Amino acid sequence: MSPKLQHATRFLDAGTVAALFARKGVANCIAGLADYIRDDFQRWDAFDKTARVAAHSPHGVIELMPVADRALYAFKYVNGHPGNHRHGLSTVMAFGVLAEVETGWPLLLSELTLTTALRTAAMSALAAGLLARPGCRRMAVIGNGAQSEFQALAFHRLLGVTQFHLYDTDPAATAKLLANLARLGLSARAFGSTREAVRGCDIVSTITADKTRATILTPDMIEPGMHINAVGGDCPGKTELHPEVLRRADVFVEYEPQTRCEGEIQQMPADFPVTELWRILADETLGRQGAADVTIFDSVGFALEDFSALRYLRDVAAELEVDAGISLIPDLPDPKNLFGYIPAVAGLARAA
Ligand code: NAD
Repeated sequence: MSPKLQHATRFLDAGTVAALFARKGVANCIAGLADYIRDDFQRWDAFDKTARVAAHSPHGVIELMPVADRALYAFKYVNGHPGNHRHGLSTVMAFGVLAEVETGWPLLLSELTLTTALRTAAMSALAAGLLARPGCRRMAVIGNGAQSEFQALAFHRLLGVTQFHLYDTDPAATAKLLANLARLGLSARAFGSTREAVRGCDIVSTITADKTRATILTPDMIEPGMHINAVGGDCPGKTELHPEVLRRADVFVEYEPQTRCEGEIQQMPADFPVTELWRILADETLGRQGAADVTIFDSVGFALEDFSALRYLRDVAAELEVDAGISLIPDLPDPKNLFGYIPAVAGLARAA
C-alpha cells in the first residue's frame, strides 16, 4: 500500500475511473478485466458465493452482491430502473468496496457504474470466446443504451467482430451508438427491427431494459450456429428470449442458483439443463459441441465479476499512482476509545 494510503481507504470517483480508463484505453481495460475475470473463475472453489440480495419495487430493483475468498471481500451496490431516463438518470448505477478479510479494513471504495459496463462486456466476450464459432465477424446489438458501445468494443477487441447490426425501439439511442462506433472506426448499420438486424449474424447480443417478460428473440429468428449473448434479462419478471429459443439451445450461466431466479431460465422448469461457465475454463466440460449448434450465455451479472473488477481497479490505480485516500474509518490512537474521536476531531476543526 502507498504510504499516503496507510490509514485511508483508496477512493475512486466516477471522474477518476473515467480518467484511468482513458489513460489505459477502454479496449485495453476490457481485455485486462477479461483476464482478471478468467483468473478468478478458474479459482471458483476458492470463493464463498451467494446469489445477490434484491429489493424489488414497481419501478426497478436494488441489489447487493457480496463474494469473498480467504484474502479479499467485495460487494457491489447496483440498481436496475429501466424508466430512469425519464428522471435524467442511468438505468444501472453502482458502486462497490474491496476489503481485507484478515482485518475487515476497506481497501477501496469505487464507482462501479462505468466499471460495470466494462466488466459486463468483458464477461460477455469471455463467454463468447468459449461458446461462439471461431471466426465470428458479424454481431447484432439489440438495445443501444449505456452498455452497448462497451459490448461492441469488447467483441471487436477479443473476438475480432468487425460488423455491427443495430436495433433499438428508441431511434435516438441507435443514432448515438452509430455515432460513437463511427468515432471508434467500427462499421455499423441501423435496422428497422430486431428480425432484420439479426439476419445473417454470427452473434446476437440482447441488451434491452424493460421490466417485463419480453420476447426480443423468437425461435424463427435463430439461425444454425448462432451464439446469443443475453444480457438484459437479469431479474425476476425481466426476460428477453422466447422459451422455445432456450429449449433449442445449449445454455451457459455464471452461477446457477442466481440465474435460476434472475436469468432467462426463470421461464424454464427447475431441472432445465444448464452449464456453469467456470467448468469450461476448468476443462471439466466442453462449450460448443458442433458448428450448427445454438449457444446461449444467459448473463445476469455475478458478484465474482465485480470482485475481479475491483481487484483490477485497485491494481491500475496503484500502477498509475492515483492516491486518492479518504478517511472512511476513524483513525484512532486507542481503538477502544472510539468515543474520544468525536472531541478530538471537533477540536481539530476548532483549531482550523
Ligand atoms: P439503457 O436503459 O441505457 O438501455 C437499454 C435500451 O434498451 C434503451 O435504449 C431502450 O430503448 C432499449 N429497449 C427497450 N426495449 C427494447 C426492445 N423491445 N427492443 C429493442 N430495444 C429496446 O440500459 P443499459 O444500461 O444499456 O442496460 C441494458 C440492460 O442490460 C438492462 O436491462 C440492464 O439491467 C442489463 N444489464 C445486465 C448486466 C449483466 O451483467 N447481465 C450488466 C449491466 C446491465
